[in-house]
Amino acid sequence: MREPYRKRRINVPPRFNNFKPSGVPRRFLKQIDITIDEYEALRLTDYLQLEHLEASERMNISRPTFTRLIEKARHKVAQAIVNGRELVIEGGNIDFINTLHRCKDCDEITLQPFSEESKRCPDCGSSNVENLAMNFMKRGRHRRGRFK
Ligand SMILES: [Zn+2]
Repeated sequence: MREPYRKRRINVPPRFNNFKPSGVPRRFLKQIDITIDEYEALRLTDYLQLEHLEASERMNISRPTFTRLIEKARHKVAQAIVNGRELVIEGGNIDFINTLHRCKDCDEITLQPFSEESKRCPDCGSSNVENLAMNFMKRGRHRRGRFK
């Protein structure tokens, strides 16, 4: 039996949502979309090197669901590298725990709880600060309504 489709818990949004082969204009590239939950699975397993069980608990999903997710994510990243695709991180049925605030003036990045409002940049004092998790949520609403 399939478990009901639960929101996947994401610790921190990705700093970058777009990767491409260098020196090739975007118009010549096909795009592969990787969801934020697939990105989180890669981060937990292949970057932090957690076991599948612990990673699945952090994302609030079952171990078999996690295993399917990480296999899909790895296949997409491999396709992007082997075939030279643009890799775009976007969408997914997710909840963020934390977010990153990026100062648009000095590029300083600070970790904040997701619900925290953007404040002044701790480094340069600018109020020109963006909330990266919010950016993902906004983009998600415009694209096929994949955020719920
Ligand atoms: Zn700043």
